[in-house]
Amino acid sequence: MLTAQNGKKAEHASSYGAEKPFVVLRDTPEEEQGSLFDGTLQNLIKEFGLVHHKFTTPTTEFDQRLYGSTDGVLEISKSGTIMHVNDAVRNILAYEPGELVRKNLFPIILPEYHGAFKIRIKKGMESIIYQRLISESKILFRAYSKLKRVFSLEAYFFPLYRSGEMVFLLIMRRITQDDALVRELKENAHNYDALSETISEVILRLDEHFTVIFVNSAIKRVFGYSREEILGKHFKTLFPGTVFDRYKDEFSKYFFIDLDHRHKSGLRRSIETLGKSKNRGITPIEISFGNSRNYEGRSVTCIIRDISQRKNTERKLRHLAFHDKLTGLGNRDLFNSDMGMIFKSNEQKEKNAALFFLDLDGFKQVNDTFGHDFGDKLLIHTAKRIRGSLRETDAIYRFGGDEFVILINNITKTSEAALIAQNVLNEIQRPYYLESMGTTTVVTIGVSIGIAMIPENGNSISEIVKNADLAMYSAKTSGKNRFVFYHTHLNSAAQERWDIEQGLKNAITHEELQMYYQPIVTPDGTVKGFEALIRWFHPVRGLISPAKFIPIAEESGIIKTLGVWIMENSCRDLHTINESGYGNLYVSFNLSAVQFNQTDLAERIANVIQRTEARTENLRLEITETSIVKMPERVVNVITSLKRQYPKIKFVLDDFGTGYSSLSYLSRMPIDSLKIDISFVRKLFEPMNLKVVTAIMNLANSLQLNIVAEGVEGTKERDFFKEKGCNALQGFLFAKPMPFSDIMDRLRSGALKS
Ligand code: C2E
Ligand code: MG
Ligand code: MG
Repeated sequence: MLTAQNGKKAEHASSYGAEKPFVVLRDTPEEEQGSLFDGTLQNLIKEFGLVHHKFTTPTTEFDQRLYGSTDGVLEISKSGTIMHVNDAVRNILAYEPGELVRKNLFPIILPEYHGAFKIRIKKGMESIIYQRLISESKILFRAYSKLKRVFSLEAYFFPLYRSGEMVFLLIMRRITQDDALVRELKENAHNYDALSETISEVILRLDEHFTVIFVNSAIKRVFGYSREEILGKHFKTLFPGTVFDRYKDEFSKYFFIDLDHRHKSGLRRSIETLGKSKNRGITPIEISFGNSRNYEGRSVTCIIRDISQRKNTERKLRHLAFHDKLTGLGNRDLFNSDMGMIFKSNEQKEKNAALFFLDLDGFKQVNDTFGHDFGDKLLIHTAKRIRGSLRETDAIYRFGGDEFVILINNITKTSEAALIAQNVLNEIQRPYYLESMGTTTVVTIGVSIGIAMIPENGNSISEIVKNADLAMYSAKTSGKNRFVFYHTHLNSAAQERWDIEQGLKNAITHEELQMYYQPIVTPDGTVKGFEALIRWFHPVRGLISPAKFIPIAEESGIIKTLGVWIMENSCRDLHTINESGYGNLYVSFNLSAVQFNQTDLAERIANVIQRTEARTENLRLEITETSIVKMPERVVNVITSLKRQYPKIKFVLDDFGTGYSSLSYLSRMPIDSLKIDISFVRKLFEPMNLKVVTAIMNLANSLQLNIVAEGVEGTKERDFFKEKGCNALQGFLFAKPMPFSDIMDRLRSGALKS
């Protein structure tokens, strides 16, 4: 039995209206009043028809029943001032009821629950404003007892309307002993444990001193420790050497900065580092941190993933991306990245290097003669030989084809570089014994090496590369199978050659090429056909003669793509000419000797013919005499194969008289015409030339070959050929090579007679 402050029995409802805070005294024993939990409060509210958002004021009887409860009952104002308290509060918080009245509720409640209370109060206010019912759900919180002990409490929070003011009832009881709740918590914990067991990542909770306070069993799989072994241990147990110390400060921040703010604070979502397992050594791991919690001190949960597999895949992918498949050497991308490091380095020592550009001599022939597989083997062996002649720290790259690049680190003297280059040269020149189709074939090749010294010969990757490349060209042009150092005085021929080769690579896509056509006429000027001659309009150098760039295209292999472009355009133009009412005019295009290296040349030509629908009876192919001398079998094969498919197609032996072809070749060649070389025609009346030309014409006659004379510049020459019965002349006397549109215009206007 409690005694009222004034010594009287309990005051009743009438005094509520006075709005003075007071202590409610009960005159009935607590046991009889019972608890307001488990539906009782709801019933009571219903019984008294209290609807908080409708301004209903509780009756005295209601208050009596309420305050007589064994549960603690508090009535607070909007600001948290305690207005009324029942004496059951004493059993809960150990305060005398009088000690609480007029005090604020908030200091009694642990700070982390203040927010929850404030939200309830706000919602209660809104329920009045918006005439909305709010649910009287329970609120769980922790509060200090008078002796500063912390208790867990549950409470109903119920807004009421009393004398024109919004107030809040707080009906609370301790839950420390509540079995059901404990059961629920245990179940949650159990579910959490069960869930964490299904995950292959390590889940680990740390307290602020980095002591492991929870860990799932994945710790065994990833780190080889059992849960028991790691619980209570320091987090650093899972890291090698100094790794933990390096990250300690960063890790600490995760205890205080929540996920939402980490990005702004420069904290990473996850950290990739190295972990140390109990017996498997060091593994790459990824750690990500959850939000920290304040439960019996601050703690943070982190998830640790074993990323060794991912790292392996990454490594493999990186290797694929940066290495040449065939030889395993670095590729151009790796080279650029390595060179980037040299130029970025601040260490003078690291900036001293030498760059070797290598281009094999004679590789194309080997490839063409013995096939690609054989060529590949040769490249693999060459890569090994280069590797074998260098130090471990030197890097080798393959830029595709037969181009290799060597980067020698820490070198300042050209004499040292020369020594290394000579070694590489010697190695590559040794004969190769390679298996091919069950037999061993011996081949020898050479190499041209261009050397640029870093930093003397360039301040950027592109400059150094260009200069090494230039030096390599110089090695090629000065006789191959040697090394040449870059020098500012390197012959301008090399520089020009370099420019041309680089430019040629893009000439097709940049649309700098055009086919010109030079009429071939009878002595009286009637057009019989045209020779297709390529023109290159270089954006800087202007018109470049094919006599200059075709040999470079041949040496660099670009002639293969260029050749297709030439055939394609010539055949398409022939088709147009023939379809425009000039069905009897022919076009002849030139084939380079190097094109015969392609084993599928006949097929390629046939493809072009089909694609362009060129009339083969009007198509002529010019083959130089040198091609025939170099590889007669190939030439014969191409000609016979094409003639089998297209019997009317014709072949012209170009530049005749310059290639020293023997009569025996000539009689075996299924060709149709001979083209007398320009050098004899232009100075026709020099006695020697006259003899040669006459002999050629007699020869053609006896072999039943037609003759074309090119380079006819004067009427005297024209008359000579006319008299000798030569019916096809080509030269500036009649017309110069001109664009296709000009040809068509002249044919239509009659300027060209057909
Ligand atoms: P070619 O096949 O012997 O072509 C004849 C060359 O003589 C052409 O030079 C032509 O313009 C030139 N010519 C014709 N009549 C006269 C004349 O009366 N006086 C003088 N001074 N020259 C005359 P162009 O077009 O400069 O071609 C040079 C060489 O480049 C060609 O010799 C050929 O070997 C090569 N070439 C040109 N176009 C192609 C092509 O499309 N493919 C291949 N593979 N080689 C080509
Ligand atoms: Mg020609
Ligand atoms: Mg010619």
